[in-house]
Amino acid sequence: MRPVAVSERISVRERRARIAACRRCPRLVAWIDEQREREPSHHNAPVPDWGDLQARVLLVGLAPGRLGANRTGRAFVGDSSSNFLFNGLAEAGFATSAQPAQAQLRGLAITNVVKCLPPQNAPVRTELRNCQSHLRAELAAFWSPRVRQPRVLLSLGGVAHRALWQALPESVSAGRACPPFSHGGESEIADNLRLVSCFHTSKLNTQTGRLTPDMLREVLLRVSALVGLASPHDPRS
Ligand code: SF4
Repeated sequence: MRPVAVSERISVRERRARIAACRRCPRLVAWIDEQREREPSHHNAPVPDWGDLQARVLLVGLAPGRLGANRTGRAFVGDSSSNFLFNGLAEAGFATSAQPAQAQLRGLAITNVVKCLPPQNAPVRTELRNCQSHLRAELAAFWSPRVRQPRVLLSLGGVAHRALWQALPESVSAGRACPPFSHGGESEIADNLRLVSCFHTSKLNTQTGRLTPDMLREVLLRVSALVGLASPHDPRS
């Protein structure tokens, strides 16, 4: 594959400080201010990425949930969607516990394409666009053409999948359509970089059986194999 340029790399501290200070989306800032009035003990602020700083997998969801990241300050920690996800992450060896609040991530980091809680869990197009610069900074820290070991971007849900594609360095995505979103879909998008997609672990999917624990486990074990991490269920481990 051809060499590609990436966004400027900044330190983790700088990246997270920029996210914490961001007030670019008036609707979301007002919505979070309203949540602060109702639930002053909650985080009620933008939520950056967290996890293993040497991650080979970056899991990308849509946006903080009201009782999840907007309450706890950590993406995918605190609600039923987090619990479902961490059961799978622990089984696949990416988390040290199935309890999100106690877990440490191994080889994996987690973020959302939009860092602030949106009303009805639905960011609008301008908000997705406004938040691209933060996702780009996270992507620049995660992968560059110089990486020698395989990396996987794991998108959770179709909206996150398409927003993630738009935030990729132009020279990776330029001239190519976003690979269609499908559960378990997989594409090689640059040297040592694959995009894998999975249904979101929202209640809408998990309570209707659209996403089952087996389906999530299958995708996570595939991702684990792609990046060369042995899972607890891997007979080689
Ligand atoms: S959603 Fe992103 S761009 Fe918008 S205010 Fe929050 S951090 Fe800033």
